[in-house]
Amino acid sequence: MKKVFGWYFKSNLAYRILGALVIGSIIGMMVPKGVILFGNTTLLNVIAPFGDLFIRLLKMIIVPIIVASLIMGTSSIEPSKLGRVGGKAVFFYFVTTLFAIIIGLACAFVFHPGSGLDLSDASVAVSKTATAPSISEIFLSIVPTNPISSMANTDVLAIICFCIFFGVGLAFCKESSDERIKNSANTVFNFFDGVSEIMFKMVHWIMQYAPIGVFALMFAVFNKSGAGAFSSLANVTIALYVGLALQVILVYCGVCLLMKLNPIDFIKKVKDPMLTAFVTRSSNATLPISMDTAEHKMGVPKGVYSFVLPVGATVNMNGTTVYLGICSLFIANACGIDLTMGHYITIVITSILAAIGTAGIPGAGAIMLLLILESIGLKVEGNVAIAYGMILGIDAVLDMGRTSMNVVGDVVASIWVTKTEGELDESKWEHI
Ligand code: ASP
Repeated sequence: MKKVFGWYFKSNLAYRILGALVIGSIIGMMVPKGVILFGNTTLLNVIAPFGDLFIRLLKMIIVPIIVASLIMGTSSIEPSKLGRVGGKAVFFYFVTTLFAIIIGLACAFVFHPGSGLDLSDASVAVSKTATAPSISEIFLSIVPTNPISSMANTDVLAIICFCIFFGVGLAFCKESSDERIKNSANTVFNFFDGVSEIMFKMVHWIMQYAPIGVFALMFAVFNKSGAGAFSSLANVTIALYVGLALQVILVYCGVCLLMKLNPIDFIKKVKDPMLTAFVTRSSNATLPISMDTAEHKMGVPKGVYSFVLPVGATVNMNGTTVYLGICSLFIANACGIDLTMGHYITIVITSILAAIGTAGIPGAGAIMLLLILESIGLKVEGNVAIAYGMILGIDAVLDMGRTSMNVVGDVVASIWVTKTEGELDESKWEHI
């Protein structure tokens, strides 16, 4: 028994989750639908709660994790650096993230991920129609009238808005010339730093249960929908990678062209951080490589990259944004839910803001996907939870691609800011 546990905890988590996905799917397909175990209890009834438990554990940490990581993310931008360089970087992050969500949604329209799956049930559709917000409602609801009640109701946009305000306020107070204000702000900062570390520890523990949860969720999907679910997973993966490729070609190479830098040269130079991000699935872990590349291969000065890259690794997540757009539509399509214009606008706004709160560590984006679902009124339970579990089952594969793009986005931002400051070492570049 000890050996089994030892093996379980020591083996690579991503492999365990992928293994659980495969085994759960195969067993789910092999077992006849509705097979009775005892009395009138089916095998599905027995296995499904293990998946529900996993979803409940994840939902348990949504609000604290978004609050802590958003406050940490925004308050770690030093106001003194929020001068011209900071302003330009934040503007660039915003514009590229906006393109990322548009590309993500466009790919979702073309590929229709999840539409082959039939996970629709009436209750989801009803709750959906009842919660469809109008455009003005969306914009007004971003500003909470009572942040505590927004947190109690998992009112995502309102929580995000409050935390960004709070984080920026905290950043300014930390730099105050009044010692008293500075000390208390630092205490608050340390508190949230502690909360966010504790939350990541909890995520780590919950993820140890993920293989069991994913097994149960996969069993439920394949027991209900049969082998057709495989093509849906392949479809969502292809849609994501096409979206990421478009982000590189249209946005990053486009920016290079605007700066008169050869895009092929750029791709050659950015290869190392891109590959490191692909294998580590962490923007933070890739930082040393991105910094080295920016300085030695791209001619970005320390004064720019030492600010733009770490802040970018915390708040600028273009790949994650493409993923959020595609996967939220996968889940809506799989559950047969028709989204309104209001929902799309909510997805755009929430994805841009959620990207800020996504930590640069493996799997963080998958937690943010829960936020997007909540923000459009999709309760993560029943079939929505099953569709979410499918995405989670292949998260390692999706995370590799999105993290690469997160890092490339940060590197491009550092080049652009340097170029506009007139400080780029042009001798390192091939021009067009
Ligand atoms: N792994 C990603 C990163 O480090 C975040 C995510 O999960 O989307 O950039």
